[in-house]
Amino acid sequence: MKALVWHGVGDIRLDDVPEPRIETPDDAIVRLTASAICGTDLHFIRGTFSNMRQGTILGHEGVGIVEALGDNVRNFDIGDRVVVCSTVSCGYCPPCREGNTAQCDNANPNGPEAGTCFFGGPEATGPVNGLQAEKARIPFASNTLIKVPPEVSDDQAILISDIFPTAWFGAELADIERGDIVTVFGAGPVGQFAVASALLMGASRVIAIDCHEDRLAMARRQGAFTINFDKEDPVATIKKLTGGVGADCAIDAVGVDSQHAHSGPAAAQANEEADKFRQEVAQVAPQNAEHQHVDDGNWVPGDAPTQALEWAIASLKKAGTLSIIGVYPPEAETFPIGMAMNKNLTMRMGNCNHHTIIPQLLELVRMGAIDPVDVLTQVEPLSDVVSAYRSFDKREAGWIKTELLPQS
Ligand SMILES: [Zn+2]
Ligand SMILES: [Zn+2]
Repeated sequence: MKALVWHGVGDIRLDDVPEPRIETPDDAIVRLTASAICGTDLHFIRGTFSNMRQGTILGHEGVGIVEALGDNVRNFDIGDRVVVCSTVSCGYCPPCREGNTAQCDNANPNGPEAGTCFFGGPEATGPVNGLQAEKARIPFASNTLIKVPPEVSDDQAILISDIFPTAWFGAELADIERGDIVTVFGAGPVGQFAVASALLMGASRVIAIDCHEDRLAMARRQGAFTINFDKEDPVATIKKLTGGVGADCAIDAVGVDSQHAHSGPAAAQANEEADKFRQEVAQVAPQNAEHQHVDDGNWVPGDAPTQALEWAIASLKKAGTLSIIGVYPPEAETFPIGMAMNKNLTMRMGNCNHHTIIPQLLELVRMGAIDPVDVLTQVEPLSDVVSAYRSFDKREAGWIKTELLPQS
């Protein structure tokens, strides 16, 4: 079968690979009818999240049809239409029972202390072959798969595999109360759903910060205020839009590939911090910090890993709440902790507990409370996956979220 395989930093290929098969009684095999490219995948190709194993199939977002079931998977039938949770979970360990399914004790083959297990990730996350493929083996399928109601389309369900629940989780961590003013750093796909989630949870005002006009325009269509950090100082502008107080809650939907301003008033401040940012890039992306794997403008690591966090913290009100759902690798060791501590901030963060959140979002979509398809901008056959990655990596205008069709 065809699958997108990670060969090295800056090197992904659509390869012919063996079909997956049932390996344990907890497995299922799913024939994927929809997959998607996620910003998280880019970290592995840019080298800003290291220790991928060569040969790993990428991708952690999928919708499909159950083709085979192991003996322990008792809650599905062959032929069921399912959405795959990006993170794998057993459903019976203590963290799973508390709803912290991203911290499952049993899913990660590296042991209970190894952290989140997800599809198509680095060595420490499994590795488990991913979902940018015609078929996939799903470990702990009884918990990692969720049935899709017939009223919810593949186009809708693929956005509920990871990005919508991750954004919803981020809005929950931000502890939004009715009337709150919420900033969302990063207006990519997860940022868009963070805007939607914050508004559904009662935020009175959501302010989205990015440097790409197409992404800011999409956020405005949802009702967000927008700030282009290449044109205005984001911290000063947030203060202005909040009566000088700052935001109640901030959501970091950027992560390690954060960029500083390259023009406008915030660019001068970035110049002063240039050395610090350079050291951070060297720390998180040792193989690509000098752009060794940059190819035709692709796979450029973000030039300021802590920039979004700095702006988020500086523009929060005193005793506000910071929620971090942007991805950072274990090698990221710098954080503006002093600024956060001296403002009495609350900070919450982590990988989304997909299994816990997805059923509720499927129901919201089935009821028509929200249509996630508004964020989907591209639908491409799996055969065009590499060129789709290149366009998404360059943030080409209009390329916000790409669905892949593995069977065409
Ligand atoms: Zn994702
Ligand atoms: Zn578990």
